[in-house]
Amino acid sequence: MSLIRAKNINYTYPRGEKTFENLNFELKEGEIKVLFGKNGSGKSTFIQMLLGYRTPVSGELSLFNEPVSRDNIDQRRNMAIVAHSFQIPQNMDVATFYEHMFIWYDNTNKERLNELINLFSIDIKRDILSLSTGQARKVLLCAILARDCNLYVLDEMSAVLDPQSRHILMDYLYKLKEERNAGILIATNITEDLEEKIDYMYTIENMQIKEIDDLIAFKEKMNEDR
Ligand code: ADP
Repeated sequence: MSLIRAKNINYTYPRGEKTFENLNFELKEGEIKVLFGKNGSGKSTFIQMLLGYRTPVSGELSLFNEPVSRDNIDQRRNMAIVAHSFQIPQNMDVATFYEHMFIWYDNTNKERLNELINLFSIDIKRDILSLSTGQARKVLLCAILARDCNLYVLDEMSAVLDPQSRHILMDYLYKLKEERNAGILIATNITEDLEEKIDYMYTIENMQIKEIDDLIAFKEKMNEDR
């Protein structure tokens, strides 16, 4: 099944510059795709479109074979997004936050949440206010990956995670793919997320999404541009 399908998407921000021109992309079940883009290339805009917060000027954007709609409860239920803009509540401890997540998202899987808490060494007794940015991200990440969904989208997670956590995360994403046949989209602005073992790698530039054919040459070019 197609999880995300974008066909000839055009988008211009009101009073802004053109952001997408005939953008095409597809993510199917059981696929992990990394989407690399420099700051300002359009990763967040694309994710906001998946959430229905921004509507393409023209073109077709569908989730689970249906047009994206904010009112489509099944779409919201089956898609778990870790967006870097998402703020975690500060005035509670981690355990209380997770209890809230069970209420807000009834598809949160308790067994998987406990597994993730162990993997990422989360101390659930800590006050969220006392956590570093990276620790708070991990708390959020566990809550979102514990949901039983078909599609997981991660927006610029690596930049805030230490290398060890990044490896744990990647291994867990492969497990989700294998066990749930989930589709996973990883948006990133760091070339370290582009690894040989990833099946599909894309770049978002010049208002379009394109497959990266030659990883080594691509990384060299990105590093030169830095
Ligand atoms: P990324 O997430 O890859 O850093 P964004 O999706 O945030 O990129 O931005 C893509 C482009 O859209 C950039 O040129 C940015 O300046 C522009 N943009 C983002 N948000 C707005 C907005 N609210 N109004 C106008 N332009 C915007």
